[in-house]
Amino acid sequence: MPHRKVKDLARLIVALFFDDTCMIIMDVFLNEKNNFIIRADVLADELHLSSKQVNKALNKLQKDMILDSYESAAKRGENLGKGVTYWFNHRLFIDAVKYKLQKMQDLLNSNVGEDSFDGTLYVCPKCQRTSNALDAQKHIDMETFEFICPRCQIPLQEPAPTEKEEDQSLEFQEKQRDFHALIDPISQMLQDIDELGRAVDEDQ
Ligand SMILES: [Zn+2]
Repeated sequence: MPHRKVKDLARLIVALFFDDTCMIIMDVFLNEKNNFIIRADVLADELHLSSKQVNKALNKLQKDMILDSYESAAKRGENLGKGVTYWFNHRLFIDAVKYKLQKMQDLLNSNVGEDSFDGTLYVCPKCQRTSNALDAQKHIDMETFEFICPRCQIPLQEPAPTEKEEDQSLEFQEKQRDFHALIDPISQMLQDIDELGRAVDEDQ
């Protein structure tokens, strides 16, 4: 059975990235009386929603690994026919969130990398020779960790950013702030859950 914190994380993720129908459905799955398992057709009846609406939301939740599913065969003596049963597989969910978070972080970092290796960044104040960060690293003063002009043997200067670059940099900082405002609470919850997992392991 998933811990309360795992359920809180699931609610947060669905609230942030999914629509209202998905949120209503997720609440049903996270209700312990349903045992985190429910059939699509039963769910539609219970919520008084069309099966089309419910299936659309379930597909979305499954695609993003918030929910897992299996095809249930008709059992003798049961009124219910064959149908798809969905369940909140909390281990799969946590792994999926971790993976997605890593992907987002990588994407953000790769954008930073492209920017800093793009064009000339360093200039020699004497001979005006310019080098990009990749080139400049080849001539580094190991005592001061400054980039050195190979011709004049003096430290290179970082050129003042142009107005456009400053705008882009501000825009990037804003993006980064938005990203962290969104992601940090999720990272914190994942960390708490990981620590819970370790505490359980230590008890055993
Ligand atoms: Zn020089």
